[in-house]
Amino acid sequence: MKIAIFPGSFDPITNGHVDIIERALPLFDKIIIAIGVNSDKRYMFPLEQRKQFILNTFKNEAKISVDTYQGLTIDYCKKIGANFILRGLRNPADFEFEKAIAHTNRELSQIETIFLLTSAQTSFISSSIVRDILKYEGDVSKFVPSCVSAK
Ligand code: ADP
Repeated sequence: MKIAIFPGSFDPITNGHVDIIERALPLFDKIIIAIGVNSDKRYMFPLEQRKQFILNTFKNEAKISVDTYQGLTIDYCKKIGANFILRGLRNPADFEFEKAIAHTNRELSQIETIFLLTSAQTSFISSSIVRDILKYEGDVSKFVPSCVSAK
């Protein structure tokens, strides 16, 4: 079985994430959206709410589940039997950052990282820009699933 995890903070999930996940669906038997919990990081949305946004977005998709994890992503993959890590690439900065992590993960494990290039329409979207707009009570409905913008 081809099991992939899509790790991230999802603070909050955006249409950029949704695009990558939907396009990855035909490639895998199962995709686990894995929210990484880092106690040093401060989030805008509490963990439970980030999880609910994702569950709501994919409520009709049987291949997708949501989980949370702490520690190394490859250790989490081994624990749940996932053989692939899915990541999205928006620009050269993403590539350089992701390349080092993927090389390191390959040194430490057999797990392959699969990159999908973002769609042109969502390549500029980031959770951090969405959070900035939300801070000033701006309209984020073009950038996030409706359950997030309704909050
Ligand atoms: P992290 O804290 O790991 O950066 P994010 O939640 O910001 O977590 O992102 C998780 C994954 O989604 C990463 O692979 C990131 O490159 C990808 N991603 C984020 N925004 C977009 C987008 N607009 N288009 C494609 N991929 C994206």
